[in-house]
Amino acid sequence: MSATAYQTALTDQVQAATSDARRVLDQAAERKGSTLHNRVADPWLCAQAQGLTDALHAGAVRACHHLAHAPGVGHAAVWRPGLIVCADCTPALTPTTKEDSTCDRCRHHANPIHAGLMIVGPILLGYGLCRSCATETGLATSGGDCRG
Ligand SMILES: [Zn+2]
Ligand SMILES: [Zn+2]
Repeated sequence: MSATAYQTALTDQVQAATSDARRVLDQAAERKGSTLHNRVADPWLCAQAQGLTDALHAGAVRACHHLAHAPGVGHAAVWRPGLIVCADCTPALTPTTKEDSTCDRCRHHANPIHAGLMIVGPILLGYGLCRSCATETGLATSGGDCRG
């Protein structure tokens, strides 16, 4: 395969992975009965997405060996920067007990933590917020979905 053909195939795979990621997110939202926001308006969320994109471009992100060989839907977490894994390797993103009760935005202890997910290209980026940060970023409604 020529370099150009390979590049095209790779781009196709990334595009397919991007729509797969979108589908995963749609299904997750449907299961939890939560609303998907198509536009990220919160500056903190935008900064997380930008940070991930920058790290990817800088080559500062480690991917599990499955993703290294075939681009697919990647899973990343705000509390675990620099790591992207495939669906099978998501246990690698499991937060520590302390991290699991710490808001990713204000870094305060919080219980419960509201789990959020945003999509950055073919990557699903997870984050966990305290009630007030969840409210400020538009993640939680009064009947919000909680983790932990
Ligand atoms: Zn993997
Ligand atoms: Zn917070």
